Amino acid sequence: MKLLYLAVTNDCNLRCIYCYARKGKDYMKFSTAKKVIEKYDCAKVQFTGGEPLLNYKLVKKLAENYECNFAIQTNATLLDEEKIEEMLDLGISIAVSIDAPSLVNDMLRPYANGEGSTRDVLKAMMLLKSYNVDYGVTCVVTPYNQRYLKEFVDLVYAFGARSISFDIVKQVGKAKKMPLPDIKYVKEAIDYAKRYRLRFRNILKESLSLECAAMNGKAVFVTPLGKEYFTCPTLAYSKIEKCPRLCYGYVNDRT
Ligand code: SF4
Repeated sequence: MKLLYLAVTNDCNLRCIYCYARKGKDYMKFSTAKKVIEKYDCAKVQFTGGEPLLNYKLVKKLAENYECNFAIQTNATLLDEEKIEEMLDLGISIAVSIDAPSLVNDMLRPYANGEGSTRDVLKAMMLLKSYNVDYGVTCVVTPYNQRYLKEFVDLVYAFGARSISFDIVKQVGKAKKMPLPDIKYVKEAIDYAKRYRLRFRNILKESLSLECAAMNGKAVFVTPLGKEYFTCPTLAYSKIEKCPRLCYGYVNDRT
């Protein structure tokens, strides 16, 4: 098995306008994660959510008990010195979700009370920079932030990020009716970023449809309650009624 996505919770403290992943307040138990990690003998495990730092206790315990290559995709609002130091010690790679400079990001990624989250995210990125962490950022490209991608590249470089992943918004969940962005802005941003030594995931070679790299059978996504899908998080949460073949049961059904 190439990649295991573990949704350690589907709870989140943000309310991003395109979210497909915040689906409740379920938290994965150690026993569930243990079963699935041991079943697939995973080389690479990505903690995802919801916001995975809401279940940091489990993240830490798994990294302490298994030798996998662990990574976490976080909105970074709950990152602090203690967690950064622990994750560095445990070898957990960090990717921060942020989409744009302040005002636009605040509009796209607010807290549950409507306040913007950008200030806290940038504070966390500054901390990561101060610890010289080799971290990346993931940016969901929508029609609302497409014009700010060059500014965004400047911003994340200044805050110490070493890689960027541009993900085109998927028309599922809250973004079901959101128009797709113009890919030319992503091309321009990638060209623009050549001035910096930033690594990129080249989405321009990938399809903009819902079919993605995770569909090749080498990824498994597991929900907080242990439901397994041969797919990526987007499809597991949003398209499963249309792709029932992808789901094959609950981890906890088996012993
Ligand atoms: S996109 Fe991620 S950070 Fe934003 S509300 Fe959904 S789960 Fe939370």
